[in-house]
Amino acid sequence: METAAIPDSSRIWRQALKDLEIQMSPAEFRTWFADTELDSSEGPVCVVSIENPLTKGWLETKCRGMVARTLEDLMGRPVQVQFAIRRQHSTPSAALELQVPPAHPKGRRGSTVPTPRPRAERTASARFTFDNFVVGSSNRLAHAAAVAAAELPGTAHNPLFIYGGAGLGKTHLLHAIGHHALEDDLRVVYVSSETFTNEFIESVSRGRMESFRERYRRADLLLIDDIQFIAGKDGTQEEFFHTFNAVLEAGGQIVLASDRAPRALALAQRLQSRFAWGLVADIQEPDVETRIAILQTKLAARNCVVPSDVLGYIAERVPSNVRELEGALNRVLAQADMLDAPVNMDLARGALQHTLTASPDHRGSNPEAIIKAVCHTSGISRRALEGRGRDRRTASTRQLAMYLLREHTALSLSDIGGLLGGRDHTTVLHGHAKLTEKLPTDDRLKESLAAVRMELDRGA
Ligand code: ADP
Ligand code: MG
Repeated sequence: METAAIPDSSRIWRQALKDLEIQMSPAEFRTWFADTELDSSEGPVCVVSIENPLTKGWLETKCRGMVARTLEDLMGRPVQVQFAIRRQHSTPSAALELQVPPAHPKGRRGSTVPTPRPRAERTASARFTFDNFVVGSSNRLAHAAAVAAAELPGTAHNPLFIYGGAGLGKTHLLHAIGHHALEDDLRVVYVSSETFTNEFIESVSRGRMESFRERYRRADLLLIDDIQFIAGKDGTQEEFFHTFNAVLEAGGQIVLASDRAPRALALAQRLQSRFAWGLVADIQEPDVETRIAILQTKLAARNCVVPSDVLGYIAERVPSNVRELEGALNRVLAQADMLDAPVNMDLARGALQHTLTASPDHRGSNPEAIIKAVCHTSGISRRALEGRGRDRRTASTRQLAMYLLREHTALSLSDIGGLLGGRDHTTVLHGHAKLTEKLPTDDRLKESLAAVRMELDRGA
């Protein structure tokens, strides 16, 4: 079965819960997610089952987007999330029957936006579209190129290579292109390069290369997200090289997203130069006006109104990552909801005081400066920070570095891990989560954090 390589739902959900946990306070997390399970993750619809019927409405209105985003990040494809109440002996399939539009018979795993489906269903899953993408000077070129690729695939810049820091809208643009092209009934394949790699390995081992090639090489539009992950994977690069050529020769359009420019990718030379054949467009951090406009778009989608001073405050506090900007907005709204209080500046300050620590002053801090300041203020050497030592002081200093690097730079989790002695991204995620959890109640930690910030200010 082709589905064999898909991580099972419980594994995906375990990881998703870890990611969700750091997007809210521990109390909220326990209240809303304690008894959740992921019943199905194979079709376009992911069904999250819950035990407590009272939490369903809240999850639906407040958390659906966050859960979808988290699952999308993990699975590399767009999903719709539904919440279902778990009965004692209900089986996943019973839960599924309640709401799922039947998956497309040939639903291609990894190709999110498979073959055309009835219009209503397509629009329902179209969370990331051009309509709800806010254009500003930071992303104007990437946006215009994406629209051109969607409207005239194969004739515009080919390939289109979009790159930029985490949470700046690359996946959003890729999905928007996909949805737009689906309207024209084109064959669209969207995958992350990780999924491409996994499918490639699986196809080789199961002797299914023909169907693998058929799927990818015949795409009218091939959208590959997070292409940086094929770095160092020679076999996959080789296969992708041929995929790339075949799609282009057949007149198809290729769009790639990456966290860094083609020249900064550790790739075979011939791939690297091909990636720069068409148009290379970067996305920068949005300015404050764009950040406010994005917040307004997100609010409109949820039918919420928030006073403009609060919007301005949130936009000032989260300078560099749109995903975190949305997270901050969610936290403010959740707080208002739980306290049953109006959204005003006091509430926003309270909601964001601990979880959100990036002040505009530290915007785009230099990672090296952060590491230096951490070492200097803690008395832990750089070598110890990068090393394997796990004594309490070293370990907690390392977590502090992870936290600051995540909060104050646009580095990816893997990049942060790389800077801290080659640790992997889950370690960084965990370190950041641990700190976020401890921060509200740990005064020593607050002091350490303040000391590093002061040092950074002095150096700035
Ligand atoms: P990336 O793939 O670059 O890491 P995403 O595309 O996943 O980032 O974007 C993260 C979140 O920020 C998504 O919810 C996305 O809708 C939102 N976002 C980013 N840029 C914009 C924008 N210009 N307008 C509206 N939403 C945006
Ligand atoms: Mg992305």
